[in-house]
Amino acid sequence: MPPMHTKIVATLGPASNNYETMKAMVEYGVHIFRLNFSHSDAAAFHPTVQIIRRLESDLDQPLTVMGDLCGPKVRIGEVEGSPLQVVKGQRLALGLPDERGAIADLPFVSLDMPALLLGLTAGMPVSLSDGMLQFTVTEVRKADKLFVMQSKNSGVLTSKKGIAFPGKFHPLPALTDKDRRDLHEGMDIGLDAVALSFVQTLGDIRDIRAAIEAHGRIIPVVAKIERQNAVDNLDSILSLTDAVMVARGDLGLECPLSAVPVIQKRIIRACRHAQKAVIVATQMLLSMVNNPLPTRAEAADVANAMLDGADCVMLSEETAMGNYPVEAVKFISEIAENAEPYYIERMKGPFAPKLEKNPAKYLAYAACLLAQNAESEGLVAHTESGATARFLSSRRPEHMIHALTPSASVEKHLNFFWGVEPRQVPTLLESHVQRAEKFVHDSPRFTPGKCAIIVAGQPTPGQTEAHTNELKVYYK
Ligand code: PGA
Ligand code: MN
Repeated sequence: MPPMHTKIVATLGPASNNYETMKAMVEYGVHIFRLNFSHSDAAAFHPTVQIIRRLESDLDQPLTVMGDLCGPKVRIGEVEGSPLQVVKGQRLALGLPDERGAIADLPFVSLDMPALLLGLTAGMPVSLSDGMLQFTVTEVRKADKLFVMQSKNSGVLTSKKGIAFPGKFHPLPALTDKDRRDLHEGMDIGLDAVALSFVQTLGDIRDIRAAIEAHGRIIPVVAKIERQNAVDNLDSILSLTDAVMVARGDLGLECPLSAVPVIQKRIIRACRHAQKAVIVATQMLLSMVNNPLPTRAEAADVANAMLDGADCVMLSEETAMGNYPVEAVKFISEIAENAEPYYIERMKGPFAPKLEKNPAKYLAYAACLLAQNAESEGLVAHTESGATARFLSSRRPEHMIHALTPSASVEKHLNFFWGVEPRQVPTLLESHVQRAEKFVHDSPRFTPGKCAIIVAGQPTPGQTEAHTNELKVYYK
């Protein structure tokens, strides 16, 4: 299998939470395992993290453990007669739990979150049953408390399902008390990265960064974009987050589903320009929960995410609870074998940076051009903060980027990036370039007589900040 540039994120669950299955998934391209805190907690995940650490040493490859915090996912309460068949045009009552029975002749949907009902008025849309049922508010019976809504289509309504108010802003911070607990316990069992659900503003990223810092260890943050507000605030969110997830499941409830494919493209583009990693998630190969092969549309969807330039594609139910977790991962690797050469061929060389004063970015671009021109066998970046490798990755070069770093946490962070193979290296050698040369010398991926393009950034003695400043064509 040729080295794959796209990274696969696999969600763990009953279908995959064992050494053999996880090993097979890593062999087909999983670099990141996702632990979903909506379904379990740190104590239950502890043995899983230990399996992942064992796999890292057995396969000699860094693996990133990403905890996914559930955030303020809003669910309705019990629905009488659930599952309830709703027909188009039917009216239902929606209100705080105390209002149950206030409109005796209509089925009642209770929502125990007063903040969400604030300012709800006639004409506003309400989405239920994961978007399968769409309603419009037709009447305010008691301001902020009790409403009548009318169904725009037929479908089944069940208890405890998610509810969304597309486009409405509600002042709920993304990081809930449960998330704070999960974050701290998760960091104690060794999470390498954390994803935050239902981010709306830059303030949400600030909150989680502060909570991480208070714990005394730094791990990268993945902002899950699943609200219209987050799409609108993407630039400011990108200024502080380390990575982004296009969380198409909930995003498709909040925004018109027909807009999601283009939103995905815009987010991916913005992330690459900001040198932040981007994960495309949800329903990528959903039919593989039950079938050994996906649909044509799913195969095309995964290929298109790669052609959009996503760093990572994610599997959810497919690997957590499906019947074919390894086959799903393998199928993604087969799509990559076709999609990546086409993506690279169509680009005709690394992406040129926009006209801006940014020597580090231009040096990375120059390195990618040089790698092609010198018929090099790869790019080797020594990077303390990870920035040099991120600059290289954002140019989307055809050569793999071997990112050498003294920092274990930077190694885990760089695992999210397109084409980057991170590796922690010892600091015995003073010179960063020499560390890179030693790596090329020892690595079977480089042939004697052929060259590697080395990029490094070492401060001049007396300087404190390292910027990328060295470029070398190194013949082995
Ligand atoms: P979830 O997030 O699976 O935690 O809901 C992903 C999404 O909404 O797409
Ligand atoms: Mn979600």
